[in-house]
Formats: sequence, structure tokens, C-alpha cells
Amino acid sequence: MALKVGAVLGGVGGRRVFDREGCVSLVRELRQSFISGRTKSYEWRAHQLKMVIKFLQEKEPAILEALHQDLCKPSFETYIAEISLLKSSCEFLLKHLKKWMKPEKASVSFVAQPARAEIVPEPLGIILVISAWNYPLLLSLNPVVGAIAAGNAVVLKPSEISPATSSLLASLVLEYLDTSAIKVVEGAVDETTALLEQKWDKIFYTGSGKVGRIVMTAAAKHLTPVTLELGGKCPVVVDSNTDLKITTKRIAGGKWGSNNGQACIAPDYVITTRSFAPKLVESFKRTLASFYGNDPLESNDLSRIVGLNHFTRLLKLLDEEKASSKIVHGGERDEKRLRIAPTILLDVPADSLVMNEEIFGPLLPIVTVEKIEDSFDVINSQPKPLAAYLFTKDKRIEKMFVEQISAGAIVVNDTVLHLANPSLPFGGVGDSGIGAYNGKYSFEAFSHMKPVLYRGFVGELSARYPPYSSQKLKLLRSLLTGDIVGLILSLIGWHSKTE
Ligand code: NAD
Repeated sequence: MALKVGAVLGGVGGRRVFDREGCVSLVRELRQSFISGRTKSYEWRAHQLKMVIKFLQEKEPAILEALHQDLCKPSFETYIAEISLLKSSCEFLLKHLKKWMKPEKASVSFVAQPARAEIVPEPLGIILVISAWNYPLLLSLNPVVGAIAAGNAVVLKPSEISPATSSLLASLVLEYLDTSAIKVVEGAVDETTALLEQKWDKIFYTGSGKVGRIVMTAAAKHLTPVTLELGGKCPVVVDSNTDLKITTKRIAGGKWGSNNGQACIAPDYVITTRSFAPKLVESFKRTLASFYGNDPLESNDLSRIVGLNHFTRLLKLLDEEKASSKIVHGGERDEKRLRIAPTILLDVPADSLVMNEEIFGPLLPIVTVEKIEDSFDVINSQPKPLAAYLFTKDKRIEKMFVEQISAGAIVVNDTVLHLANPSLPFGGVGDSGIGAYNGKYSFEAFSHMKPVLYRGFVGELSARYPPYSSQKLKLLRSLLTGDIVGLILSLIGWHSKTE
């Protein structure tokens, strides 16, 4: 079947139709590159990573422009949350790569002695990365650089919903990277479906749980391992024992300062006590006015909603009677420019739409409870989130939160900052994802940690071979349980029997 959708196939050059046969030959080419061993050397991996850093520097204006076209993303946010994070990710990989590539010594159990053992990291082979539109540079290239660092060949399928960035990525790969082993396929569902039919050694997917299930089903056919970076409703618990001004700034920064709420780890809803809620709402209003002025629809510091589908979806959440009657701030929209102002809703019922799907936009419901500990039940009654946030000065609440809340990550007294830390794994749990990456976790996500046991020809223990006997079993039992006295006694018995 020839898919009549123009797609750029990075590495081949130019616009062309991408079809199933194209997929088969692309996988064949990648497989050959991988088998040739080229991608396995430290030099190849390091060179590709350096070239990514190079284009991040040289093509910064083009990157800022592409993200502005796709999302009206403020250059400030593109630089801080995409370019600079990706650059530090490459630098972190480069700094540690030689060490991680070395086999790691492992201890050898008594029963296998004399021997030595090590864990040898080996690349998995050929990798498919499917990424999402909201952080189209970071979410596309961060897994790709992890796959490269681990010595794999890789195909990136960026999102069709951010076409300017996707096509820039295709041309950057073409211009800077080794296109016999690193390719970009642009396209939508048809192209992704064709790619998913192929046999990969790993599929790394970022996006919704709905498509995550499609990816996992396709992967199961070939027993291909997956990492699924999904989403969910990230809660923020605000205790009254907090620094109110800093708290609202950090929540507002993580919500509206993260692509206007279109981020997987952006706060989705806030839970606070009934008595504290009015103060919190007033503080949010002051913070928002200081961030975006009195007419946020005109602010250049807020991304627009990515497309009409998502704009309509968000308005459906907002305009449902159960929600619209609860707006305490914002609610303005401009359909022509796909803009929605930062909006706060107070005490929205639990059965409202806005409380039952991931918002992924500028609406922030505040749920109230009698006492702050009740917030744990609210969170635990929902699927496990990708991140959960807590603001408190109370160490008892902090300890309870960390112990009782299951989430991809927890941040105390801030939001979203864990992503900027390559020493922490990034990923979900339960409905928010499978597997993790970032820093060393990226290297491991795309490697097989292969155990190797080396033995010589001395120290032959004939008791392990048939014909089995109770004497042999006694000896092995003592050996396995570390019973030295029993071992000596059975050795004496064994020897006297065999002499
Ligand atoms: P999206 O629509 O861009 O889809 C993601 C990818 O899936 C795209 O490349 C798209 O082409 C592909 N796709 C879409 N439909 C498909 C189908 N039927 N078959 C095969 N492939 C298909 O992104 P999205 O799903 O709207 O992303 C938003 C979701 O992603 C949110 O739930 C968000 O929380 C989550 N997300 C998670 C992370 C993370 O790191 N965990 C990051 C960003 C977004």
C-alpha cells in the first residue's frame, strides 16, 4: 500500500511519498548500519552528540522560529525548557559516556568460583522514537540522544501537530548527523502505523495513553520492549502552612509558564483546605496579574493552544455548566488566535469533565477538603499521576505525602523542576507510563545490561554432574547454604568414597 502522504525521510533527502515498502527498506538500511558496528564505537556516539550540541547553537534562531510557528511558544520558554535542557542532556551524556560504556565488575557466588563476572552494556539495535507536539524539540531529541549514547541506530517520528518543528528536525538530522543510522520520518497516523508494523528492538513513545495502548499492542506482535511516556492529572497539594507568595508563583510558573498548561507535568489541579482556598485564589490573581498583565490574551509570554481540536476540547471542559459556574478568575478566549486566558475554577464537582480528564491547557481547578490529609484520598482515588506536588513547611505532612502518594515523581515546594535534573529518572507509573529516561537512565533504557561470567578450567566440581547421589547433594547443599562445617565433612566423605 502506498501512502499518498508526503513525508520527509531524513537521510534520503527531499520530499517523497513514504510507504510500507519505504518502511521495510528504511529498517533494512538501519539494521545494516547497526550490524556494521559503526554506531557502537565511543567516537561515533560522541561525535553525534557533539553535532546535536552544534546545531542547537548554530540553528537556535530557526528552532525558536519553528516553535513560535507551531505554538506561539515564547522564545524564553523554548530556550529554557527545550534548547538548554537538551544541550545539558547531551553534555551530561558526553561527560559520563566513557564510564558507562565500560563493563562493570560483579561479584561471583561461592558456587561458581573460581570465576570473574561483569555486566557489559550493549546497544539494543534499532530504535523507533515516536514523540509528541507540546515540547517538540526536547521530547523528540532527548530520547534520540539517549539511543545514540547507548550505541543504537534510531528513527524519529515527530508529531504532525507541530509540523514546523518536525520538518526542521528532519532537515537538521540531514545536515548534521549520520543519516545512515539516524533518520526522521515525518507524518501522522498512517506513517506511524506503517512504522509500527516493522520489527524494532525498542519503541520509545511519548504521548497519550490511548495511543500508548496502540503502540504497546503493535510492539507485542514482535515482543518488542517499550518505554511509554504518558500523561495524567498532576495534582498540587497546598497546605495552609506555606509561603503563600512563593507557592502561587511556583504553581503559576509550572502551569501557565509551561506552554500555557500544555505540558505533561504541568499542575492539573490544586487541592487545599476550605478555609485556605480564598487566600490562595487571591494570591493567584495577584501573581497572574504580575506575570501577564490585565489582558493575558494579549500577552506574548503565553503560548497559544496548539490547534482548533484542542481549543474546542478545552472549551468543552470550561463551558460545561458544572465548571463554568465555578470560574473565579479568567475564562476569556479568542477563537481566531486560539488563545485562552489563565483560568481558575473553585470547588468544581468531582463528576465534572474538567476533573475527569487530563486538562492539558490553561484551566486550573481548585478542589477543597476539610483537612489537608484528606487530599491524599482525592489523589489516590485517581489513576497514578506523572508528577505530584506538595507545598508545606510541615515535615510531618511532607513525610506522609512521600510515603502515601504513588506518582512518576514527587516535588516538594516546587513544580516541574525535577525534569531539569539528569541524575533523576523521568517517567511515569501505572497509567502515567512504563519505564524512564534522562541521564544514565536514558543510557540504560536503550541498552541491554548483559551479564558475562568468565571461568577457566581449574576448580572442576564433579559433584554437580550425574549420576546424582545423596552424598553429592549433601555437599552441594552445604556449598549453597554456606555451611562450612557441613562442606568439610561432606568433602571428607566424598573423597573417602571416591578413593
Ligand atoms: P500527539 O497527538 O502528538 O501524539 C503523539 C504521537 O502519536 C504522534 O507522533 C502521533 O503521530 C502519534 N499518533 C497519534 N495517533 C496515532 C495512532 N492512532 N496510531 C499511531 N500513532 C499515533 O500527542 P498527544 O497524544 O496529544 O500528547 C499529549 C499527551 O501526551 C498528554 O497525555 C500528555 O500528558 C502526554 N505527554 C507525556 C509526556 C511525558 O514525557 N510523559 C510528554 C508530553 C506529553
